[in-house]
Amino acid sequence: MKVIYPGSFDPVTNGHLDIIQRAAKNFDEVTVAILDNKSKSPLFTIEERIAMLKEATKSLENVNIDSFSGLLVDYVAKSNTNTVLRGLRAISDYENEMRNALANNSLNNDVETIFMVSKSEYTFLSSSVVKEIASFNGDVKNMVPEVVCKQLKEKYK
Ligand code: ADP
Repeated sequence: MKVIYPGSFDPVTNGHLDIIQRAAKNFDEVTVAILDNKSKSPLFTIEERIAMLKEATKSLENVNIDSFSGLLVDYVAKSNTNTVLRGLRAISDYENEMRNALANNSLNNDVETIFMVSKSEYTFLSSSVVKEIASFNGDVKNMVPEVVCKQLKEKYK
């Protein structure tokens, strides 16, 4: 089975990476689909986010990196799967994820969303927490892959 793991990944964290690694073990193919949404004013360009994800997942043979803009259901319709994977950290994610999954399913009945529960050590971790810490010169090396650590230092130097 093939799954699409969509998100902003601005930037990818060890929490995302844990989901990607576990998905790679449990599914035949994982496509990480980075949302190119300029209205979210991301810190990293889509090219930078693609490059960081490629580097962080280079040892995983059944993982590929792609990007999309517009509606997720339209991207899914053009792919060869109907299954979307999302990570769930805490109950606070539940409401949003539920709304997105229901909205996507109502737009396209074939689209199914499945969830993987975050490891407990990553439940606090988000791209925004990482950016906040890095912007004040805090140490994020245990929170993100090495390539992201380097890029964050570049951005905030
Ligand atoms: P979005 O902006 O679409 O929420 P993110 O890049 O923040 O995109 O997250 C993409 C996916 O990864 C979401 O399903 C999110 O719940 C999940 N995720 C984010 N951080 C973690 C984490 N620390 N552990 C597990 N899953 C996570």
